[in-house]
Amino acid sequence: MICQKCGAENGNNEYCHNCGSPLNAAQQSYQQQPGGQYPPPQPNGQYPPYQQQASQGSATAPFVLGIISIIAGLLSPIVGIILAVIGLILGIKAKNAGVQNKTTASIVLSSCGIGISVISWIIATMVILS
Ligand SMILES: [Zn+2]
Repeated sequence: MICQKCGAENGNNEYCHNCGSPLNAAQQSYQQQPGGQYPPPQPNGQYPPYQQQASQGSATAPFVLGIISIIAGLLSPIVGIILAVIGLILGIKAKNAGVQNKTTASIVLSSCGIGISVISWIIATMVILS
């Protein structure tokens, strides 16, 4: 057995006769290295849930557009209708893509945005014409 500290040959002694450092400790450190190579293939199998969460997040845009379209429809009906139509299209696309989180809510909100914008437009026109 060769001492890792000074390089002296010590046969089967537990301690180096030249420098006194323990030889078994050096041997144990070599035995621990193969154990440190843990193969990490299983975390790759856990990625599909993360991809589902990412696809569910895609319904956030039409959801927010639906809310904004209702508010914008009261202030500017044209802007409200445009935002509501975009939100409705994105919501239907998300629903067709299998997204369930907030999808129905975004479609309902966008539909309400269209209705409120149309009503707001009619009221604004009546006020102008009166
Ligand atoms: Zn030594």
